Amino acid sequence: TAARRALIAGNWKMNLDHLQSIALVQKLAWTLKDRNFQSDTVEVAVFPPFTDLRSVQTLIAADKLDFSLGGQDLSAHDSGAHTGDISGSFLKALACDYVLVGHSERRANHSETDQVCLAKVQAALRHSLTPVLCVGETAEDLETVGQSAVPVAQLTAVLEGISAEDEIVVAYEPVWAIGSGTPATAEQAQEVCGVLRDTIRTLHGDEQADRTRILYGGSVKSSNIAGFMRGADVDGALVGGASLDSEEFAAIAQFE
Ligand code: PEP
Repeated sequence: TAARRALIAGNWKMNLDHLQSIALVQKLAWTLKDRNFQSDTVEVAVFPPFTDLRSVQTLIAADKLDFSLGGQDLSAHDSGAHTGDISGSFLKALACDYVLVGHSERRANHSETDQVCLAKVQAALRHSLTPVLCVGETAEDLETVGQSAVPVAQLTAVLEGISAEDEIVVAYEPVWAIGSGTPATAEQAQEVCGVLRDTIRTLHGDEQADRTRILYGGSVKSSNIAGFMRGADVDGALVGGASLDSEEFAAIAQFE
């Protein structure tokens, strides 16, 4: 992983209003400074709800904080008659670098298919946002087809519609591990992340395979992050619950 800068990403899900979001980002900045956190090898990103993005972006800019910013979803469309949806262009205008696509909660609660995820990845790329494509198997998939078949199929569906030059991040998130307190083992995470990198290599070649960051997500805590990060193909983590606690998230970012 030496050539790839680690990415520790906090997915706040539907937690924290804009005032609470400011408090968390300030606390996180203080805690990281207190711990003498070095950001040259580790990038820290936060993914607040849409209504918090303006406040968080303003704080990051005003205090020159070293955090990347992302949205939790975007529309496949650029503008127009799509009530309630958010364009990638709006995220870009708020200095977002990233956007989550295909989180398992979006796939489950909003029936997002692989086709929808591809269209959203393409929309993100049109607006110069780096999509963080979330893939992962359910507990049922794990029993019936094993661990990597579903994430590989989900990644393949997107790779087939983008090019080898495009920049994406892949987050391997076993659905059974999300919010369950039962993470995958470090060995399981490395194995699937390795298979996902092989998938990129087969479809798009060495350059994209070696450059793309692949994250693990699912019940990551400060007590288990080091094990995940030892995996040669694990370049970071997508963190849900533990990203809402500044001490815990700072400790995860400082996994070394
Ligand atoms: C997530 O939802 O992306 C996630 C990894 O959640 P948690 O860390 O709470 O399992």
